[in-house]
Amino acid sequence: MNASGAGGSAAARTKATSRGRAAGAGASQSAMREHNLGLVLEQIVDATEPVSRADLAVGTGLTRATVSALVDLLVSARMVDELEPVARRTAGRPAVPLVPARGTIVGIGLEANVDYLGARAIDLAGNVLAEEIIEDDFRHSEPAEVLPLLGGLGKRVVTTTTNKGARVAGACLALPGIVDRVSGPLRLAPNLGWADEDLGALRTVAPFDEIGVRVANEANLAAVAEIRAQHAARPSFLYVSGEVGIGGALVDGGVVFKGDHGWSGELGHVTVDPNGPDCTCGSEGCLETYAGKDSLMAAAGLARDLPVEALVDAARSGDEKALDALARGGRALGIALSSFMNLTDINEVVLGGIYSPLTDLLVDHVRRELDRRVLTAPWVEMNVKASVSGTRAAMSGAALSVLHLVVSNPGAWGALEPGAWSELEGIPVPSGAARQAAQGATGQPATKQVVDA
Ligand SMILES: [Zn+2]
Repeated sequence: MNASGAGGSAAARTKATSRGRAAGAGASQSAMREHNLGLVLEQIVDATEPVSRADLAVGTGLTRATVSALVDLLVSARMVDELEPVARRTAGRPAVPLVPARGTIVGIGLEANVDYLGARAIDLAGNVLAEEIIEDDFRHSEPAEVLPLLGGLGKRVVTTTTNKGARVAGACLALPGIVDRVSGPLRLAPNLGWADEDLGALRTVAPFDEIGVRVANEANLAAVAEIRAQHAARPSFLYVSGEVGIGGALVDGGVVFKGDHGWSGELGHVTVDPNGPDCTCGSEGCLETYAGKDSLMAAAGLARDLPVEALVDAARSGDEKALDALARGGRALGIALSSFMNLTDINEVVLGGIYSPLTDLLVDHVRRELDRRVLTAPWVEMNVKASVSGTRAAMSGAALSVLHLVVSNPGAWGALEPGAWSELEGIPVPSGAARQAAQGATGQPATKQVVDA
């Protein structure tokens, strides 16, 4: 091939190349803008105090002008609210404090657990806009009966929320078992008695056929709520979710570790004694058989459908059986946790679910085993503390995991189209990619946080 055959005249080549460069630069500029928009919204949502545009410029490394333009887009998309300006100590215009918007965009957190069903709507500011709970016994229940009940709760929460003028970004269901990442199915939930459940009875009925329902393990989602509630920079801890079953979630630097399939953290089925009692999973002597709610209540001589507060009251009034049950459960928990600490070098344990009100009564028994069994005990402080994420944290985490999708990519949810809000009513119509992510159709949404926990 000779020189002249390589692509026409030099002038034409130059023109083609510069046009290509311009298109490429345009695309990358637009991608950069979307990325920066997410960065700014993330900083506003994660901040413990309202931030100013100047704070954001420092925090993101972007120029003041860029930050200002991005904040304007987020305000017009009703993702960020501006508070009354506060006077500065130095000269210059008063700073306008920025906070995540209240009551505009919500995530719906759903949960099916052994003794309750629930739905909770949370907005970008972290406020609960609506909640519905049914307390009942769902041990060995039929998904075909339970899921429509849960769907009814969820529908009422969605209706309440949209009547208040909020948009629903998506829904996520927390389940106490082994769940495939993001889209399911649920492989096994021993205490519910569910196996290989595709959740069709929930996903195919209104409004969830439109909104979509992601699914995840309840402990992993509770850990998402705990990360947000702690407001610490990149925390590492093991979250222990005590219910009838016991779930665990390993948080490493602010991110929930999920393992190859999203199945990690089955702490309740760690063997404490191979010759111990039979477990619902088919094995013997699992942690759950000593420290799950049913086991604790039975050992304390209390009815299993009583709330955990009954056990707290009995122990505080000095009831021997209750104290023995907690000593036995706490010891088993300490044995299981010592193996975890020996393996991971993460020395903070957060006790959630029913363990939250029991922490004071359990902690000495747990610590005794850790001191005895963790090799590094002489050199590190082993911190065992109660969760700060409130009751039924998995539902909150489920709602927050939906909101993470919005926060990490606000452009896909209308923030790059001024006026998008006014054209939308109730259920939003996000871009294709955002919609797929919300419905759990994609494998791995690209966010730093724990979106597919
Ligand atoms: Zn088991």
